[in-house]
Amino acid sequence: MSVYNFAAGPAMLPTSVIQQIKGDLPSFNGSGMSVMEISHRSDLFEKIIAEAKTNLLNLLNLSDDYEVLFLQGGATTQFAAIPMNIAKTKHIGLVDTGHWAVRAQEEAQKAGIKVDTIASSKIDHYHDIPKVIKPQETLDYVHLTTNNTIEGTSYKTLPELNEPLVLDVSSNFLAQNYLFKNVDVIYGGAQKNLGIAGLTIVVIRKDLITKNDLPSMWNYQILAKKNSMLNTPPVFAIYTANLVLRWLKDLGGVLEIEKRNLQKSNLVYDFLNNSKLFTNPVKKDSRSLTNIIFSTGNDELDKKFIVEAEENDLLNLKGHRLVGGMRASLYNAMPYEGAKALVEFLEKFEKENR
Ligand code: PMP
Repeated sequence: MSVYNFAAGPAMLPTSVIQQIKGDLPSFNGSGMSVMEISHRSDLFEKIIAEAKTNLLNLLNLSDDYEVLFLQGGATTQFAAIPMNIAKTKHIGLVDTGHWAVRAQEEAQKAGIKVDTIASSKIDHYHDIPKVIKPQETLDYVHLTTNNTIEGTSYKTLPELNEPLVLDVSSNFLAQNYLFKNVDVIYGGAQKNLGIAGLTIVVIRKDLITKNDLPSMWNYQILAKKNSMLNTPPVFAIYTANLVLRWLKDLGGVLEIEKRNLQKSNLVYDFLNNSKLFTNPVKKDSRSLTNIIFSTGNDELDKKFIVEAEENDLLNLKGHRLVGGMRASLYNAMPYEGAKALVEFLEKFEKENR
């Protein structure tokens, strides 16, 4: 069965990774056990986690001045854990680009952190990316969501501020080629571009990992010292992430995948720009490569579109409940053929329903 899965996450995996998992499953590396059954204390797993770390830092073009933590609890846990660990004066800045930025703010505040909104596009219904102005006061860091999964916007380049950046890259992790200058933390869940749910990756400057009194599962110093194995780590999710990292490396890395992601998203945006039925509300220079939102402006027709798309093996195109309409997530694993099949169906639907 061949379908295209446009879900925002959990999302599709590269076909070759699924094949590799299938082959590995009965007996991982000749061990007689599947990777789901091996001990996290085994040499087999130590090798996986070490390779995943190296592959990730290489693909991000970061040196070993950065530590990689493989954690659980989603990006949502890190909204509070990051400031708890590194916000020395408990005062941070935040760029308000939509739902997930607001969630990051709320969770940091619950942890007793003062959060200043230093830029926002709320007034424009988050249809563009706010221009970030240098803050007046000194802040521990500025939190920025590089890609807004629900609103369909993204930063093309990172703003340059006096403060370091903390980046939620959940929905464009290794999908866009950013220059990481003056960046303290890069974090996100694995379930969109790096494999499966259950794994959250935090890449953090090593010198920020200092002794503190936080409970162990929140404490980066303890987690780093234990090589992300303070408790039982999500072995299968880390193994899968490493396969996805290998796949991306073999394909030519982030520059190559960014080129492909641009080709896919341009194909869909070009159609939407010329459509007489579908619209995309996002300002052109703020449009996301990985999450494209669109609608007919008519709820009934949108519903019909989603039903008929499913009948044509184009799955999970329903928009997020907060914005309605449709959303096509074109993460790294989505082939060009998937974007092409979507555009062909959009054209057909438009002809039949205008
Ligand atoms: N940030 C962004 C940009 C997201 O898209 C999401 C999830 N869709 C989250 C944070 C929350 O991630 P998690 O479900 O891993 O907690």
